[in-house]
Amino acid sequence: MFVSDILSQKGGFVFTVTPGTSIAQVSQQLSVRRIGSVLVLDEEGAVAGIVSERDLVRALASHGAKALELEARQIMTRDVVTCDPDDSIDQVMESMTRGRFRHLPVVRHGELLGLVSIGDVVKWRLEETQHEAEALKAYIVAG
Ligand code: AMP
Repeated sequence: MFVSDILSQKGGFVFTVTPGTSIAQVSQQLSVRRIGSVLVLDEEGAVAGIVSERDLVRALASHGAKALELEARQIMTRDVVTCDPDDSIDQVMESMTRGRFRHLPVVRHGELLGLVSIGDVVKWRLEETQHEAEALKAYIVAG
C-alpha cells in the first residue's frame, strides 16, 4: 500500500498559512479545522515550514500568553521532511517514528500534493488488517 492510496481516499487538500500568520490565528485554524498541524507556505507557494500543536505548546511554555502574538515563522520547524506518493505506508511509518513527528507532507517535483497524518496511517493499517483477517477466514471456511 502506498501514500497515493491514502491520498485517493482523503484527497489532496492541505491547510496552509503564511509565515506572517499570528500564532493566535494558527491556534484558531487548528481548533476550527480539527487538525494537528498547518503547513507554512512562502510567497512562491513553496513549503517554508510546519507548525504543529507541539510547537504551540513549546511557544506557550517559553513565552506565556505573549506566544499568541508571535508569527508562524518564529516557531515553525523549517527542515520539513516530506514523502512521495509512491512511498509505501511502511516507509511513512518509519519516517514518522525516526523523526518523532505525526505529519508528513506529500511532495513531488516541488509540488505539494497532500498531507498524511499518523491518524491516516493507523486508519489505513486497521482497514488493511481487517481485510486480511476476512480473507483468511474465507480461505479457512472454503477449505
Ligand atoms: P507533530 O508530532 O507532527 O505534532 O510534530 C512534532 C514536531 O515535529 C513539531 O516541532 C513539528 O513542527 C515537527 N514536525 C511535524 N511534522 C514534521 C515534518 N514532516 N518534518 C519535520 N518536522 C516536522
